[in-house]
Amino acid sequence: MADTRYIFAPAAPVTLPVVGSDLLFPVRRVYCVGRNYADHAREMGGDPDAEPPFFFQKNPDNLCTDGRFPYPTLTADLHFEVELAVALHSGGDSIPAETALDCVFGYAAALDMTRRDLQAQAKKAGRPWEAAKAAEHSAPIGPLGPVTAVGHLDGAAISLDVNGTRRQQAPLADMIWPVAGIIAHLSRLFTLAPGDVILTGTPAGVGAVQRGDVMEARVDGLTPLRVEVV
Ligand code: MN
Repeated sequence: MADTRYIFAPAAPVTLPVVGSDLLFPVRRVYCVGRNYADHAREMGGDPDAEPPFFFQKNPDNLCTDGRFPYPTLTADLHFEVELAVALHSGGDSIPAETALDCVFGYAAALDMTRRDLQAQAKKAGRPWEAAKAAEHSAPIGPLGPVTAVGHLDGAAISLDVNGTRRQQAPLADMIWPVAGIIAHLSRLFTLAPGDVILTGTPAGVGAVQRGDVMEARVDGLTPLRVEVV
């Protein structure tokens, strides 16, 4: 048996609830896709025809499931980005797009909360994005709907309401890289494995929220995600 005498007790793994099950989904890594909807790429000043989507990461413990998002420090421009989350139960290297959906355990509605002011500074200085993207609790996420129950969400739309007003809405089919393409691209850069979660990018309409605002993220077929900024 391996020697497991640690200097201190390691943190328990981050887990996500699964709709219709008492079992928990243990999270390994969190990947995110940037500029995966053409209209959002344009609103951020990019050209979707010239620049393909790209990846960045958040930390597993940035996922937050209690519906309360604490307004982060050192920002005055906190933005919402509604995103479809994909949870993998298998992985590998250089996975062909044709078989990539076999890796998917399930899907959830999620938010990529962003310190937009720090992101703009980082872009201007050519610096990394962690301070903008990986704030504590910066990835609120709903319970996972397993593929066995919800399928692959063909024909579904994604949307976000803030205080009851629709702010973002798009068909998932508007993604530049669909889920299978994301997995195929990502698995050429990194070895994907069970427990990996991918946030698949946001459509146009991103904007700022303040303390007290209530965000409701919806993806047809999945449990809605309600998050209060506190
Ligand atoms: Mn995003």
